[in-house]
Amino acid sequence: MSQFTQLSHYVNGERIAGTSGRFGDIYNPSKGAKASEVPLASKSEVEAAIAIAQDAFPAWAATSVLARSRIMTKFVHLLYEHQHELATLVCNEHGKVIEDAMGSVLRGIEVAEFACGAPHQQKGEFSDGVARGIDIYSMRKPLGVVAGITPFNFPAMIPLWMAGMALVTGNTVVMKPSEKDPSCPLRLAELFVEAGGPPGVFNVINGDKEAVDTLLNDERIKAVSFVGSTPIAQYVYATATANGKRCQAMGGAKNHMLILPDADLEDVANALMGAAYGSAGERCMAISVGVCVGDEVADKLIDILKPRVEALRIGNSTDTGLEMGPLVTKEHREKVMGYIQMAADEGSKLVVDGRGFVCEGHEDGFFLGGSLIDQVKPDMTSYQEEIFGPVLQIMRVGSFEEGMALATDHPYGNGTSIFTKNGAAARTFADRVEVGMVGINVPIPVPLAFHSFGGWKASAFGDHNQYGMEGLRFYTKVKTVTARWQDSGVDAEFSMPVLK
Ligand code: NAD
Repeated sequence: MSQFTQLSHYVNGERIAGTSGRFGDIYNPSKGAKASEVPLASKSEVEAAIAIAQDAFPAWAATSVLARSRIMTKFVHLLYEHQHELATLVCNEHGKVIEDAMGSVLRGIEVAEFACGAPHQQKGEFSDGVARGIDIYSMRKPLGVVAGITPFNFPAMIPLWMAGMALVTGNTVVMKPSEKDPSCPLRLAELFVEAGGPPGVFNVINGDKEAVDTLLNDERIKAVSFVGSTPIAQYVYATATANGKRCQAMGGAKNHMLILPDADLEDVANALMGAAYGSAGERCMAISVGVCVGDEVADKLIDILKPRVEALRIGNSTDTGLEMGPLVTKEHREKVMGYIQMAADEGSKLVVDGRGFVCEGHEDGFFLGGSLIDQVKPDMTSYQEEIFGPVLQIMRVGSFEEGMALATDHPYGNGTSIFTKNGAAARTFADRVEVGMVGINVPIPVPLAFHSFGGWKASAFGDHNQYGMEGLRFYTKVKTVTARWQDSGVDAEFSMPVLK
């Protein structure tokens, strides 16, 4: 018997132990020590969870949208009540600092709050009297059992992006969270049942590729929502759609901030510190590239940033008043360190090298200091690829057009922002840049729950964004009814109607 706590799955309203005999290790990143083990489900365990969700579907789909929305409202109340508990789970397995973890939980709750409006949102359309005695109306029906596959970096928010809209519209869910930090999604499913959600409607199955492949290939799964890295997003999208499923698959990112010479550089520095180093850069909307128009802007900005990056307050995730915690795993920290070395080898300049950072009292934690890299060029691999760590790369361009072209030409197109006082330049940028989410003097333009989230190019595959009305459309299919109700009889008609 292992000395470590063994986590479980959550199926049919209860926590159940894994039976595959395979486990993944969960670490507390601040301590750098193994904290628990997560069961990695076998194909048959995933199939059993799908069967439970399939059985629960007819009754849940037939539950009135008002009743589903009331359960969602109760769920929202419980989420607020347990916000700190959920955030602490995020800190202990992911490594975000507590204030940031609280914010990430809130962003997830906001999607569940939006979902409470389903009675209005899920309304169909009606055209009366389109011909003699004939009306046409449409309904938005749930799809059936849907799968959510989530990444490590937002273990509360992203499961709620998916679960909120999927559940309220009448689907049943099998969620497969990241095997690095699954405690929060397990707790979410438990709270949904506490809120009155019927057992079997929201299930969480832990696992790795075997679990994902089972979800992608099982014909009872009608839709797959995925968020993670681009190579896996491409694989998930290709496999799910080849199997006839609806799929949205969000991938990686490399987000540019364009800084024009008229921008207030103190404001820019404040924005960049939070956007590049918050959550140790492990955000798909983190700004990882600052693009300065002109050497003067770059030189001044680096002068402001350098001492601030060197003085970042980094420490144990659950302590308050910190700016940055550790990275999620030792392997991920090594990968980020590899990119810093690559950047130096490729000829860019390490203004601040975070690799030497040691967190006093937490020497074994997966900590890395902030890094600031100047003289980055478009053909460098360290620029082309996503680093996903506390590393800000600075590029120097000669003009607005050249800077906008960098964001447009980059393979990723998740988020971008522009800092300027020039409204016309900002408007042109928002209109023309080939990126899905744009900030104007806002560094991390994550749309709120009543809009929707989605990147372009290699950052997202599929036709629908996450949450908002896009989420509602993703999780429902339209049925249209044409009905004739009239007192007199109907003549036989052999031709399509013509204008008379
Ligand atoms: P990941 O792709 O490694 O894992 C995501 C999910 O896929 C996990 O549940 C994992 O178990 C599963 N998975 C991993 N390898 C698999 C395989 N070979 N076959 C099938 N399933 C597999 O991503 P991650 O490291 O957990 O998360 C970080 C990535 O997610 C970054 O690239 C980040 O930019 C991206 N991300 C994107 C968004 C967005 O909305 N665009 C949001 C958050 C994170």
